[in-house]
Amino acid sequence: MNSTTIDWEAISSELAGIEIIQDTERLAKLSLDYYHFSPVLQPLLEEKRGDLVVRPCTEEEVLKIAKICVKYKAPLTVRGAGTGNYGQCVPLSGGIILDTTKMNKISWIKPGLACVEPGVKMAAFDKEAREIGWELRMYPSTYRTATIGGFIGGGSGGIGSITYGQLRDRGNLHAVRVVTLEDEPRVIELRGDEVQKVNHAYGTNGIITQLEIPLAPAYPWAELIVNFDDFMTSAKFAQELTDTDGIIKKLICICAWPIPQYFAALRSYIPEGKHSALLIIAEPSLEPFKELVKEYGGDISYEKSAEDGNKGVSLAEFTWNHTTLHARSADPSLTYLQSSLPDDPKMELLEHLYGHFGDEVMMHLEFVKSGGKSVIAGLQVVRYTSEDRLNEIIRYHEERGATIFNPHTYILEDGGMKTVNVEQVEFKKKVDPYGLFNPGKMRGYFEEKE
Ligand SMILES: Cc1cc2nc3c(=O)[nH]c(=O)nc-3n(C[C@H](O)[C@H](O)[C@H](O)COP(=O)(O)OP(=O)(O)OC[C@H]3O[C@@H](n4cnc5c(N)ncnc54)[C@H](O)[C@@H]3O)c2cc1C
Repeated sequence: MNSTTIDWEAISSELAGIEIIQDTERLAKLSLDYYHFSPVLQPLLEEKRGDLVVRPCTEEEVLKIAKICVKYKAPLTVRGAGTGNYGQCVPLSGGIILDTTKMNKISWIKPGLACVEPGVKMAAFDKEAREIGWELRMYPSTYRTATIGGFIGGGSGGIGSITYGQLRDRGNLHAVRVVTLEDEPRVIELRGDEVQKVNHAYGTNGIITQLEIPLAPAYPWAELIVNFDDFMTSAKFAQELTDTDGIIKKLICICAWPIPQYFAALRSYIPEGKHSALLIIAEPSLEPFKELVKEYGGDISYEKSAEDGNKGVSLAEFTWNHTTLHARSADPSLTYLQSSLPDDPKMELLEHLYGHFGDEVMMHLEFVKSGGKSVIAGLQVVRYTSEDRLNEIIRYHEERGATIFNPHTYILEDGGMKTVNVEQVEFKKKVDPYGLFNPGKMRGYFEEKE
């Protein structure tokens, strides 16, 4: 698909009344995301640009844009805050970028459930929800800037996943409204299991215009750093904390030395050579939590009360892919992996991988629940030398039973389970008959068309 033959002047005049952006500098900014975390994706995506950005305020305006898109057969890429980290919202074939950030109304919040537009920022939402004692079940470390629609479109889980699992787990998304790119674009409401048709589909099969999301009871959350002399002790402590259901927690992140050396703002709390646990624990659980720390010989070097929540650093912003961000700020040649380790109660594989790769693959672990079971997610920081070596490292993990969610590909299916999601492809065929949603992104669709 070639967007240069499209009559962009005609399209912009038909879009009259809706904010559009066409200047080169802003177009470049609004075409890209954090794809540059990957040295493999850098050369593939850095030149990609949309032809025009449009910022609707309402679902009605989205329907109007969809109609124009279909009329001119213009590709369309949906964008939230653009914090995705593998070119998720980078337009592969140019076209229209539909930016949802002006669709930021919270329709209602009631105990346990809320209804929002896709461009609502997660931190802004939580502020409102806490007024009635509730909060988001989970959020990415980009919480302050990311949109709820973008989290559903491209995220997987994050802070809170230790209790509530992954976004894809049943019950973590109740309903969505999506706008189609049919000859006569329409709104489809998907509820219950049907939401999986668009959940984590990178915006390839519908523009989400409204979401119903479940909430969690809000706790006063304390933030703590606990240091350990030995990496495996820190990992075993994290596993036991994960399995101790009586201690209410929101985040268990382990960073093996030398990763903490990249956290400039935390340097005074993490002595040289120590392995750190970055934790968010409910204040009423701190007493039993400290007993556990004592049992494992950990040293609490930092503790911020819930009352001081907005003061100083936010520990969450050193975890998940913020760990990668800080590492890359200190050394841009570093990159990362995303993995999930197989069930291994004695942690033998973890210990083996830690010893085998040494400083080439530095251990960053996030403890989470997935499908009701506790899982160790690795976001290892990697000293990059070449694509071949990176693939060798990936293969080494896979041969030993680890799953790699490859962050060095922009193709929807290749980053995840490597299987085509038939339900999502079938839904795309129905709602996007001309294949206009970011063409080239969904392998299951374009391979069938070829
Ligand atoms: C430093 C850093 C840390 C991160 N930490 C985490 C983490 O902890 N957990 C995690 O899951 N992710 C994480 N991410 C990835 C990303 O920040 C999150 O997934 C975030 O929620 C994306 O929101 P966004 O508004 O920026 O979405 P965008 O990046 O704008 O979009 C993400 C995807 O969703 C699609 N999309 C956006 N809006 C819609 C819509 N209305 N309808 C249909 N499709 C849509 C886009 O097309 C794109 O494919 C991190 C990224 C970085 C750079």
